[in-house]
Amino acid sequence: MESSGCLNERAQFDLLERVKELSCLYGIARIAAETNLSIDMVLDGIVEVLPAAWLDPGLACARIVLDGRSYLTSNYTRRVKHRQRAPIVIDGRKRGYVEVAYPEEKPGRDEGPFLKEERALIDTVAREVAVIIMRREAEQDKVKLEEQLRHADRLATIGQLAAGVAHELNEPLGHILGFAQLVQKCPDLPVQAKADVDRILSTSLYAREIVKKLLMFSRQISPQKTKVNLNHLVRNGLNLLEFRCASDGITVHCFLPSDLPEIDADPSQLTQVFVNLIVNAIQAMPAGGTLTIRTLKGRGKVFLTIGDTGVGMDEEALQKIFTPFFTTKDVGLGTGLGLPVAHGIIAAHGGSIKVESKVGKGTTCRIQLPTKRNRPL
Ligand code: ADP
Ligand code: MG
Repeated sequence: MESSGCLNERAQFDLLERVKELSCLYGIARIAAETNLSIDMVLDGIVEVLPAAWLDPGLACARIVLDGRSYLTSNYTRRVKHRQRAPIVIDGRKRGYVEVAYPEEKPGRDEGPFLKEERALIDTVAREVAVIIMRREAEQDKVKLEEQLRHADRLATIGQLAAGVAHELNEPLGHILGFAQLVQKCPDLPVQAKADVDRILSTSLYAREIVKKLLMFSRQISPQKTKVNLNHLVRNGLNLLEFRCASDGITVHCFLPSDLPEIDADPSQLTQVFVNLIVNAIQAMPAGGTLTIRTLKGRGKVFLTIGDTGVGMDEEALQKIFTPFFTTKDVGLGTGLGLPVAHGIIAAHGGSIKVESKVGKGTTCRIQLPTKRNRPL
């Protein structure tokens, strides 16, 4: 009689533990189903439902660590007597762990003070958390990609518009230039008239430069590719600006490894990109600073980064930098075409350009170019 009572008690105990486990997993599933919660909120929620599934819910505390960030139950204390951990593995990489702990001494069981089933449960929870994080991150990547596509789409539309305008302007500009040159050749031109014609000429040459830049932005001028070494181009670009850096109190650090593979590219277009980026960096450091230029070999590609310790940009400005004519500079100092042109040229080379910036800290431009011959995008 007594032994069957004992068995009954054991069965009841097991059943209760199973119910607690299932409630915990159900709680996690419910939290995961809430699509409008951020990853932080999800982990804060999950950590709270864990202790209830353990043998002594009143005493158990829990924490989840992901990428160095901790999510704790309110009773979590660092000095615990017993802990149980399961790693959170995402895409084969350990990104953190789930931990349940008892701050006080507990009677020994299967594995310290923990039940065998609790070992299985914490492993399941860690796997669930990994799946949830993976899904959320995939979701976030999708949103980011869509935003990038929209941005690329917008730029392409602006590019088409710019190319149309540029072509329309090219012809009348050619006429203005041609006729002004004819007038300039007239003998006995009054001094004032000659000065005026000179101004017409220089202004229309400037306008033609802008038209050319617009065509470059919209990739209407295809690159004349040859084999080039990025390091040489960077050095050439720097040569043009070294004096200006020195006189502005800017220290230049260059890291140009000698094993950089050659790429198929248009040297004059790429030089134009570097000069644009370096001039931007110089202009962002009116009180001096450090300009760091780095090239690096990757698999099938080369990288170039240009970093400055200048004024930086806020999120709003960053969103607009590749839009033609966006400038924060005074007339004469900027046209707002440097970065759009750089974008057009790099895209025509099958590469990419990204800009990161922090107000007051500085800006870094990252360029990626393929080493293999690529058809222009
Ligand atoms: P421009 O230099 O003629 O203004 P760009 O297309 O080169 O045109 O740059 C657009 C704008 O982006 C600049 O006016 C400036 O506000 C911002 N910008 C570009 N590069 C940097 C940088 N290195 N640091 C801070 N702001 C920058
Ligand atoms: Mg510029």
